[in-house]
Amino acid sequence: MRVTVDQPKCVASGQCVMLAPEVFDQDDDGIVELLTDTPDTAHHEDVKESAAVCPAAAIHLAEK
Ligand code: SF4
Repeated sequence: MRVTVDQPKCVASGQCVMLAPEVFDQDDDGIVELLTDTPDTAHHEDVKESAAVCPAAAIHLAEK
């Protein structure tokens, strides 16, 4: 899995950080920051859920 985030779209809601704190963080303004673009398999379901619930559709997943 390869993860990308579209920071200009992010509305700083924080769902992704709550669901997958090993993969996502937020900067001082609450905007998503990617900690890794190739998360461990153990985190894939959390990352998929983050992408599904992101209100801005700012998280994109691809198979690598
Ligand atoms: S869930 Fe989406 S809008 Fe919310 S902080 Fe994460 S990337 Fe940004």
